Amino acid sequence: MASERQIQVGGVPIGGGAPVVVQTMTKTETADLSATMDQIGRVAEAGADLVRVAVPREKDVEALSRIVRESPIPVIADIHFNYTLALKALDAGAHCVRINPGNIGGQDKVAQVVDRAREVGTPLRIGVNSGSLPKHLHSLEDENPVEALVTAAVEFVELMERLEFYDFKVSIKSTNVSNTIASNRLLSERIPYPLHLGITEAGTKWSGSLKSAVGLGTLLADGIGDTIRISLSTFHAEEEVKVAWEILKALHLRERGPVLIACPTCGRLQFDMDSVVAEVERRLEAYEDPIEVSVLGCAVNGIGEARHADFGITGAKDMGMIYSRGEPLKKVPTERLVDELFAEIDRYYAAGKRVMRDEADAAAASAWLAEHEDVTAMTPERMAALEAQAADASEDDGASSERIRLDEALSPVAGRRFTRA
Ligand code: SF4
Repeated sequence: MASERQIQVGGVPIGGGAPVVVQTMTKTETADLSATMDQIGRVAEAGADLVRVAVPREKDVEALSRIVRESPIPVIADIHFNYTLALKALDAGAHCVRINPGNIGGQDKVAQVVDRAREVGTPLRIGVNSGSLPKHLHSLEDENPVEALVTAAVEFVELMERLEFYDFKVSIKSTNVSNTIASNRLLSERIPYPLHLGITEAGTKWSGSLKSAVGLGTLLADGIGDTIRISLSTFHAEEEVKVAWEILKALHLRERGPVLIACPTCGRLQFDMDSVVAEVERRLEAYEDPIEVSVLGCAVNGIGEARHADFGITGAKDMGMIYSRGEPLKKVPTERLVDELFAEIDRYYAAGKRVMRDEADAAAASAWLAEHEDVTAMTPERMAALEAQAADASEDDGASSERIRLDEALSPVAGRRFTRA
């Protein structure tokens, strides 16, 4: 369930029903002001609501007050092991300080950090990682890693409550996607505080994005999670922000920028759609409005499932077509498809978001479409539509109104784990 409590990080609300907040972490040496500020600028432009910086040394905390002053978005200081750095980060004006109460040097040190946070009115993030659980939970971790993670987090929450401090969010992170899902589900039922979600050390841009989409997407779809950070092995922190947004957009949790739809292609494709889609995606980054743009590999289906797209293109060998909201706009040579698509999009904005249609061009495009459409072709889209129709029909006649459900306990593979080399 969604968190009941809400905190404010530099004016950005987290939890209590607020939109899911996107954050990332800089990868520069924090004390290198110019590199750090450059990266903060790039992540802010990519849509980060918050940015975290690592503060492992004195010189980093010395740079912090200037970073906080100059950053366009609130700054979270990430501290491990050294409670004096946490105190200094609070004094430097960090909008939030992340500590792991298990490695900060004992409960009295945690209490000192909490006292200072209360004095300056700054929230904390208390984080628990699968790699750094307190010693007394190590045997539980061997038996039940999920319960161990949740127990550690709840113990830290209880410590905060004993200190009468409630201005914090909580994270439990694991490199294991299913443990991250299970532990956050459990934790969300046990505490009312906002949850920070992430898969720790998720991997490269490719595998890390997928793991994060599965882990965080599953939780977010359940309404669990108030702020997310995607961890990718790349120096370009803005890539993490872009992935976070794609997850939120896919779940319709937040809107930002255009939505690109592209068919998966098949043997009917007659032009270089790979390059076309990449180019369309690149050029769409310049637009902020959430318009929907579609790229179809052929016109055999007509405009079909792309009917709702604000703009779209479909191509054949030498000629292609631009359409808008289900209606053909114009036909153009394939090599000019992308340029003409963006010319139409720009014309739409220049006209105050009105689609500009030239009747003669539209008639020529409709004739081209009629020539290339084949209503008898069994395309992937038509097969999917037929399957959906068949499923609806069998539900309507009542014969199978009871949906088949998977029962894990009855599964022949229940409790087994598979690995694949
Ligand atoms: S039939 Fe469908 S998947 Fe195949 S190229 Fe055409 S639009 Fe793309």
